[in-house]
Amino acid sequence: MNVTDVINPANGAVFTTVPSLGLEETDAAIERARTAFGEWRRVAPGDRARLLRRFAAVVEDHLEELALLEVRNAGHTIGNARWEAGNVRDVLNYYAGAPERLSGRQIPVPGGLDVTFHEPLGVVGIIVPWNFPMPIAGWGFVPALAAGNTVVLKPAELTPLTAIRLAELALEAGLPENVFQVLPGKGSVVGQRFVTHPAVRKVCFTGSTTVGKSIMAGCADQVKRVTLELGGKSANIVFADADLSAAAAAAPGAVFDNAGQDCCARSRLLVEASVFDRFLALFQENVAKFRTSDPTSEESDMGPLISAGQRATVAGYVGGADVAFQGTAPSGDGFWFPPTVLLARSADDPHWREEIFGPVVSVLPFRDEAEAIRLANDTEYGLSGSIWTRDVGRALRVSRSVETGALSVNSNSSVRYWTPFGGMKQSGLGRELGPDALLSFTDVKNVFISMGE
Ligand code: NAP
Ligand code: MG
Repeated sequence: MNVTDVINPANGAVFTTVPSLGLEETDAAIERARTAFGEWRRVAPGDRARLLRRFAAVVEDHLEELALLEVRNAGHTIGNARWEAGNVRDVLNYYAGAPERLSGRQIPVPGGLDVTFHEPLGVVGIIVPWNFPMPIAGWGFVPALAAGNTVVLKPAELTPLTAIRLAELALEAGLPENVFQVLPGKGSVVGQRFVTHPAVRKVCFTGSTTVGKSIMAGCADQVKRVTLELGGKSANIVFADADLSAAAAAAPGAVFDNAGQDCCARSRLLVEASVFDRFLALFQENVAKFRTSDPTSEESDMGPLISAGQRATVAGYVGGADVAFQGTAPSGDGFWFPPTVLLARSADDPHWREEIFGPVVSVLPFRDEAEAIRLANDTEYGLSGSIWTRDVGRALRVSRSVETGALSVNSNSSVRYWTPFGGMKQSGLGRELGPDALLSFTDVKNVFISMGE
């Protein structure tokens, strides 16, 4: 069997290998998932709920182990990695409430009874990127399982370890064999097979917009359901009337968290011209305090980038640009890059327009509310964003005008497991998390029962 090296991005060293599955092994796993579906969908709602709650408890028992695995494999800070493992636990507990509440309707009709059922789809294929291996896996496999589907999940080649461990923990919690399988391997082999295999009835993909489009096109062939979470180039809009200290204190985390490898990163900073210099001075003080260091340290705010390739891509955007200021980063082994603030010359600069997926933010001044909205929407993406203002009316007007799926006012947080998350425009299709995501793992069946007269 082929194997893939797993690298610690903080020092660049290979520390283990994992199998890389081929087509035959992928097909065999999908067949097992298809067989397991027949039984899993018939598990009584209360029993399915209990199994998911037990799975959550087992994740809780292994929280530190999972977190440390992610620090080593993805270079996430220990604080973030603990949150990520806790997020899997929380999502399991949240959707454990779903099986007993997955009610259909009874619709009045003449001559009989009309009822609807939310039927599970079958086997669901989930393709996960390397930037948030645990949460993004959980946002897919948990509601899929809760709705009665079985799951095959392909982790990113760079970061397979926590997903593999979660599948082991599922068995430990008592989930039946083959209900949740993790299949490490290449996107072009394992991931592509989810698209072409007729037994896989839905694909959830998170990753680049380019690959997402090819997945969507491929799924059309079998009218396969698809959820896409793609790239972003989100705006952080700071109005002159905002609490500038609070906005400046929050701005580094809004883009440099997870070393900027976050589809929600507020990587375009729009500042009202009248406070531009004052805000930038405050921002600089906060960037200087943002600690890029060994991710195992409790004090670390940011670790390394995921790979040498990612670092080269990021550096390519910074070379030749107007650097306003930079933070610091360790030198030596590992894929380190300092937090970097660039001044955009115009909205045509590549670093203003393209998703960099690194610790780089582009800054541009704006004159008034209308220009801020125009600049914020001048992108094919529409995932997240922030608005900083003390004017409630303005907060509402701008919130309704910015074309993105997950906005925050006087805050940079976009992810809560009980609220919907996803993108507008080319940032995605469908929504994850929250009360509605469950139904996207089902199809509605309408049944009419005649009274026989
Ligand atoms: P990617 O190529 O889109 O990979 C994401 C996932 O899709 C990985 O599991 C990958 O497998 C798999 N994949 C790749 N090609 C596939 C195919 N033809 N069919 C099915 N699955 C396939 O993303 P990337 O190369 O890791 O990152 C490139 C850029 O995408 C980043 O720099 C960033 O701009 C963006 N990105 C966005 C997000 C997000 O959260 N929206 C996440 C990650 C990346 P392999 O591991 O084998 O490649
Ligand atoms: Mg790729």
